Amino acid sequence: MSLPNPGPETRLIAIVNQKGGVGKTTTAINLGAALCAAGSKVLVIDLDPQGNASTGLGREVAERVKTSYDLLLDDVPLSEVMQTTATPDLWIVPATADLSSADLQMMSDARRTYRLRDALKPAKQGPFLDYVLIDCPPSLSLLTINAMVAATSVLVPLQSEFFALEGLSQLMLTIREVRQSANPDLGIEGVVLTMFDGRNRLAQQVLADARETLGELVFQTVIPRNVRVSEAPSFAQSVLDYDPLSKGSMAYRELAAELIRRNSLVEV
Ligand code: ADP
Ligand code: MG
Repeated sequence: MSLPNPGPETRLIAIVNQKGGVGKTTTAINLGAALCAAGSKVLVIDLDPQGNASTGLGREVAERVKTSYDLLLDDVPLSEVMQTTATPDLWIVPATADLSSADLQMMSDARRTYRLRDALKPAKQGPFLDYVLIDCPPSLSLLTINAMVAATSVLVPLQSEFFALEGLSQLMLTIREVRQSANPDLGIEGVVLTMFDGRNRLAQQVLADARETLGELVFQTVIPRNVRVSEAPSFAQSVLDYDPLSKGSMAYRELAAELIRRNSLVEV
Protein backbone atom coordinates (compact mmCIF):
# COMPACT_ATOMS: atom_id res chain seq x y z
CA MET A 1 0.00 0.00 0.00
CA SER A 2 1.30 3.46 -0.80
CA LEU A 3 1.87 5.90 2.03
CA PRO A 4 -0.81 8.51 2.66
CA ASN A 5 0.01 12.14 1.79
CA PRO A 6 -1.25 15.45 3.06
CA GLY A 7 -4.31 16.30 0.94
CA PRO A 8 -6.51 19.36 0.52
CA GLU A 9 -8.69 18.35 3.51
CA THR A 10 -5.93 17.25 5.89
CA ARG A 11 -5.99 19.05 9.25
CA LEU A 12 -2.46 20.06 10.16
CA ILE A 13 -2.30 20.85 13.84
CA ALA A 14 0.73 22.48 15.44
CA ILE A 15 0.97 21.53 19.12
CA VAL A 16 2.52 24.61 20.65
CA ASN A 17 3.50 26.04 24.00
CA GLN A 18 6.84 27.73 24.53
CA LYS A 19 7.00 26.22 28.01
CA GLY A 20 8.57 22.81 28.37
CA GLY A 21 7.00 19.96 30.27
CA VAL A 22 3.38 21.00 29.72
CA GLY A 23 2.27 17.89 27.81
CA LYS A 24 2.88 18.77 24.14
CA THR A 25 4.64 15.53 23.25
CA THR A 26 2.31 13.41 25.38
CA THR A 27 -0.62 15.02 23.58
CA ALA A 28 0.93 14.52 20.13
CA ILE A 29 1.42 10.80 20.78
CA ASN A 30 -1.84 10.02 22.54
CA LEU A 31 -4.16 12.32 20.63
CA GLY A 32 -2.59 10.83 17.50
CA ALA A 33 -3.31 7.30 18.69
CA ALA A 34 -6.84 8.27 19.74
CA LEU A 35 -7.58 9.83 16.35
CA CYS A 36 -6.38 6.58 14.76
CA ALA A 37 -8.64 4.58 17.05
CA ALA A 38 -11.49 6.74 15.73
CA GLY A 39 -10.62 5.67 12.18
CA SER A 40 -8.23 8.40 11.01
CA LYS A 41 -4.87 8.24 9.29
CA VAL A 42 -2.45 10.30 11.35
CA LEU A 43 1.11 11.50 10.98
CA VAL A 44 3.08 12.89 13.93
CA ILE A 45 6.00 15.11 12.95
CA ASP A 46 8.63 15.39 15.66
CA LEU A 47 9.96 18.94 15.42
CA ASP A 48 11.75 18.92 18.77
CA PRO A 49 15.50 18.16 18.76
CA GLN A 50 14.91 16.25 22.00
CA GLY A 51 13.09 13.63 19.92
CA ASN A 52 10.73 12.57 22.69
CA ALA A 53 7.81 11.87 20.36
CA SER A 54 10.08 9.62 18.30
CA THR A 55 11.16 7.66 21.38
CA GLY A 56 7.62 7.49 22.72
CA LEU A 57 6.40 6.02 19.45
CA GLY A 58 9.12 3.41 19.41
CA ARG A 59 11.80 4.86 17.15
CA GLU A 60 15.21 4.32 18.73
CA VAL A 61 17.88 6.88 17.85
CA ALA A 62 19.70 4.28 15.72
CA GLU A 63 16.59 3.83 13.57
CA ARG A 64 16.26 7.54 12.84
CA VAL A 65 18.19 7.54 9.61
CA LYS A 66 16.02 10.08 7.81
CA THR A 67 14.45 12.71 9.98
CA SER A 68 12.54 15.98 10.16
CA TYR A 69 15.92 17.68 9.68
CA ASP A 70 16.18 16.14 6.21
CA LEU A 71 12.59 17.12 5.45
CA LEU A 72 13.22 20.74 6.44
CA LEU A 73 16.77 21.33 5.30
CA ASP A 74 17.66 18.81 2.65
CA ASP A 75 14.45 18.65 0.59
CA VAL A 76 14.08 14.92 1.28
CA PRO A 77 10.47 14.05 0.35
CA LEU A 78 7.96 13.29 3.09
CA SER A 79 7.48 9.70 1.88
CA GLU A 80 11.16 9.02 2.62
CA VAL A 81 11.14 10.34 6.19
CA MET A 82 7.82 8.82 7.33
CA GLN A 83 8.11 5.69 9.44
CA THR A 84 5.50 3.29 10.76
CA THR A 85 4.73 2.86 14.47
CA ALA A 86 3.23 0.02 16.52
CA THR A 87 -0.20 1.61 15.94
CA PRO A 88 -1.67 0.95 12.48
CA ASP A 89 -2.37 4.15 10.52
CA LEU A 90 -0.09 6.16 12.81
CA TRP A 91 3.18 7.34 11.28
CA ILE A 92 6.07 9.38 12.65
CA VAL A 93 8.68 11.63 11.14
CA PRO A 94 11.38 11.26 13.78
CA ALA A 95 13.78 13.91 15.04
CA THR A 96 17.37 13.77 16.19
CA ALA A 97 19.55 16.24 18.06
CA ASP A 98 20.93 17.71 14.82
CA LEU A 99 17.61 19.53 14.47
CA SER A 100 18.90 21.94 17.11
CA SER A 101 21.11 23.56 14.47
CA ALA A 102 18.20 24.00 12.04
CA ASP A 103 17.28 27.50 13.21
CA LEU A 104 20.75 28.80 12.49
CA GLN A 105 21.03 27.02 9.17
CA MET A 106 17.70 28.31 7.91
CA MET A 107 18.45 31.88 8.93
CA SER A 108 19.92 33.00 5.61
CA ASP A 109 17.15 31.41 3.53
CA ALA A 110 14.52 33.87 2.29
CA ARG A 111 11.85 31.15 2.52
CA ARG A 112 12.99 30.05 5.96
CA THR A 113 9.54 30.22 7.54
CA TYR A 114 7.94 28.27 4.67
CA ARG A 115 10.18 25.22 4.61
CA LEU A 116 7.78 22.89 6.40
CA ARG A 117 4.79 24.18 4.44
CA ASP A 118 6.66 23.53 1.18
CA ALA A 119 7.57 20.02 2.37
CA LEU A 120 3.92 19.25 3.23
CA LYS A 121 2.31 20.62 0.08
CA PRO A 122 -1.01 18.83 -0.51
CA ALA A 123 -0.75 15.99 -3.01
CA LYS A 124 -3.24 15.63 -5.87
CA GLN A 125 -3.73 11.91 -5.37
CA GLY A 126 -4.62 9.95 -2.24
CA PRO A 127 -4.57 8.08 -0.01
CA PHE A 128 -4.68 11.18 2.18
CA LEU A 129 -3.81 11.70 5.80
CA ASP A 130 -6.66 12.95 7.98
CA TYR A 131 -4.39 14.64 10.54
CA VAL A 132 -0.82 15.80 10.81
CA LEU A 133 0.18 16.62 14.38
CA ILE A 134 3.36 18.68 14.71
CA ASP A 135 5.11 18.30 18.05
CA CYS A 136 6.93 21.60 18.57
CA PRO A 137 9.98 22.42 20.70
CA PRO A 138 9.52 24.47 23.90
CA SER A 139 10.20 27.85 22.28
CA LEU A 140 8.75 30.23 19.73
CA SER A 141 11.75 29.59 17.50
CA LEU A 142 11.95 29.29 13.73
CA LEU A 143 11.00 25.61 14.04
CA THR A 144 7.76 26.52 15.81
CA ILE A 145 7.11 29.32 13.31
CA ASN A 146 7.57 26.78 10.49
CA ALA A 147 4.96 24.59 12.18
CA MET A 148 2.50 27.50 12.50
CA VAL A 149 3.02 28.57 8.89
CA ALA A 150 2.40 25.00 7.67
CA ALA A 151 -0.54 24.36 10.00
CA THR A 152 -4.26 24.80 9.59
CA SER A 153 -4.58 25.29 13.35
CA VAL A 154 -2.79 25.44 16.67
CA LEU A 155 -3.50 23.30 19.73
CA VAL A 156 -2.16 24.55 23.05
CA PRO A 157 -1.64 22.19 25.98
CA LEU A 158 -1.72 24.04 29.29
CA GLN A 159 -0.39 22.45 32.45
CA SER A 160 -2.74 22.84 35.38
CA GLU A 161 -0.36 24.73 37.63
CA PHE A 162 0.44 28.21 38.84
CA PHE A 163 1.80 30.48 36.04
CA ALA A 164 0.08 28.30 33.45
CA LEU A 165 -1.56 31.27 31.76
CA GLU A 166 1.61 33.31 31.77
CA GLY A 167 3.21 33.25 28.37
CA LEU A 168 -0.12 32.66 26.69
CA SER A 169 -0.39 36.29 25.56
CA GLN A 170 3.03 36.04 23.91
CA LEU A 171 1.86 32.88 22.16
CA MET A 172 -1.37 34.56 20.97
CA LEU A 173 0.68 37.50 19.70
CA THR A 174 2.88 35.14 17.71
CA ILE A 175 -0.20 33.47 16.22
CA ARG A 176 -1.48 36.89 15.12
CA GLU A 177 1.88 37.74 13.58
CA VAL A 178 1.93 34.47 11.66
CA ARG A 179 -1.59 35.20 10.39
CA GLN A 180 -0.54 38.67 9.23
CA SER A 181 2.64 37.59 7.55
CA ALA A 182 2.20 34.11 6.14
CA ASN A 183 -0.87 32.13 7.12
CA PRO A 184 -4.05 34.26 7.34
CA ASP A 185 -6.27 31.20 7.83
CA LEU A 186 -4.41 29.78 10.83
CA GLY A 187 -7.06 28.70 13.33
CA ILE A 188 -6.90 27.89 16.99
CA GLU A 189 -8.07 24.39 17.72
CA GLY A 190 -8.21 25.13 21.39
CA VAL A 191 -6.46 24.99 24.73
CA VAL A 192 -6.41 21.71 26.63
CA LEU A 193 -5.66 21.44 30.33
CA THR A 194 -3.17 18.65 31.03
CA MET A 195 -1.97 16.84 34.16
CA PHE A 196 -5.16 17.93 35.88
CA ASP A 197 -5.75 16.86 39.45
CA GLY A 198 -9.36 17.60 40.39
CA ARG A 199 -8.62 17.34 44.12
CA ASN A 200 -6.11 20.12 43.87
CA ARG A 201 -7.68 23.54 44.43
CA LEU A 202 -4.98 25.32 42.51
CA ALA A 203 -5.69 23.14 39.47
CA GLN A 204 -9.41 23.95 39.78
CA GLN A 205 -8.49 27.64 39.92
CA VAL A 206 -6.31 27.39 36.79
CA LEU A 207 -9.18 25.72 34.93
CA ALA A 208 -11.64 28.39 36.08
CA ASP A 209 -9.22 31.18 35.10
CA ALA A 210 -8.57 29.60 31.71
CA ARG A 211 -12.31 29.31 31.03
CA GLU A 212 -12.87 32.90 32.12
CA THR A 213 -10.05 34.30 29.99
CA LEU A 214 -10.33 32.06 26.95
CA GLY A 215 -13.98 31.03 26.95
CA GLU A 216 -14.93 28.38 24.44
CA LEU A 217 -11.33 28.00 23.30
CA VAL A 218 -10.82 25.75 26.31
CA PHE A 219 -11.69 22.14 25.57
CA GLN A 220 -14.40 20.60 27.74
CA THR A 221 -12.13 17.58 28.03
CA VAL A 222 -9.35 17.88 30.59
CA ILE A 223 -6.48 15.40 30.68
CA PRO A 224 -6.01 14.04 34.21
CA ARG A 225 -2.65 13.44 35.79
CA ASN A 226 -2.35 9.69 35.38
CA VAL A 227 0.69 7.53 36.04
CA ARG A 228 -0.14 5.23 33.09
CA VAL A 229 0.27 8.23 30.77
CA SER A 230 3.77 8.87 32.08
CA GLU A 231 4.74 5.18 31.97
CA ALA A 232 3.61 4.45 28.42
CA PRO A 233 6.53 6.12 26.54
CA SER A 234 9.10 3.89 28.24
CA PHE A 235 7.25 0.96 26.66
CA ALA A 236 7.35 2.75 23.29
CA GLN A 237 3.55 2.81 23.23
CA SER A 238 0.72 5.27 23.36
CA VAL A 239 -1.30 5.04 26.56
CA LEU A 240 -4.17 3.68 24.45
CA ASP A 241 -2.10 0.59 23.66
CA TYR A 242 -0.35 0.42 27.01
CA ASP A 243 -3.46 0.61 29.17
CA PRO A 244 -6.62 1.10 27.11
CA LEU A 245 -8.93 1.47 30.11
CA SER A 246 -6.80 3.89 32.10
CA LYS A 247 -8.13 7.36 32.89
CA GLY A 248 -5.47 8.87 30.63
CA SER A 249 -6.49 6.68 27.73
CA MET A 250 -10.17 7.55 28.11
CA ALA A 251 -9.38 11.25 28.35
CA TYR A 252 -7.37 11.26 25.12
CA ARG A 253 -10.21 9.40 23.35
CA GLU A 254 -12.60 12.06 24.61
CA LEU A 255 -10.28 14.81 23.43
CA ALA A 256 -10.10 13.21 19.98
CA ALA A 257 -13.91 13.00 19.83
CA GLU A 258 -14.23 16.65 20.83
CA LEU A 259 -11.62 17.72 18.29
CA ILE A 260 -13.37 15.81 15.52
CA ARG A 261 -16.70 17.44 16.45
CA ARG A 262 -15.60 21.03 16.65
CA ASN A 263 -14.25 23.15 13.83
CA SER A 264 -11.16 25.18 14.41
CA LEU A 265 -11.95 28.69 15.54
CA VAL A 266 -10.25 31.40 13.55
CA GLU A 267 -11.33 34.49 15.46
CA VAL A 268 -9.42 35.26 18.62
P1 ADP B 1 6.37 18.80 26.66
O1 ADP B 1 6.40 18.04 25.37
O2 ADP B 1 5.44 19.97 26.64
O3 ADP B 1 7.75 19.19 27.11
P2 ADP B 1 5.71 16.23 27.86
O4 ADP B 1 4.56 15.76 27.05
O5 ADP B 1 7.05 15.66 27.54
O6 ADP B 1 5.78 17.82 27.79
O7 ADP B 1 5.34 16.00 29.38
C1 ADP B 1 6.23 16.35 30.43
C2 ADP B 1 6.26 15.27 31.48
O8 ADP B 1 4.98 15.13 32.07
C3 ADP B 1 6.60 13.89 30.91
O9 ADP B 1 7.42 13.23 31.82
C4 ADP B 1 5.26 13.21 30.79
O10 ADP B 1 5.35 11.80 30.93
C5 ADP B 1 4.50 13.81 31.96
N1 ADP B 1 3.05 13.87 31.67
C6 ADP B 1 2.44 14.49 30.64
N2 ADP B 1 1.10 14.35 30.70
C7 ADP B 1 0.84 13.62 31.80
C8 ADP B 1 -0.36 13.12 32.43
N3 ADP B 1 -1.57 13.38 31.91
N4 ADP B 1 -0.24 12.39 33.56
C9 ADP B 1 0.98 12.16 34.09
N5 ADP B 1 2.14 12.57 33.57
C10 ADP B 1 2.09 13.30 32.44
MG1 MG C 1 8.05 17.72 24.09
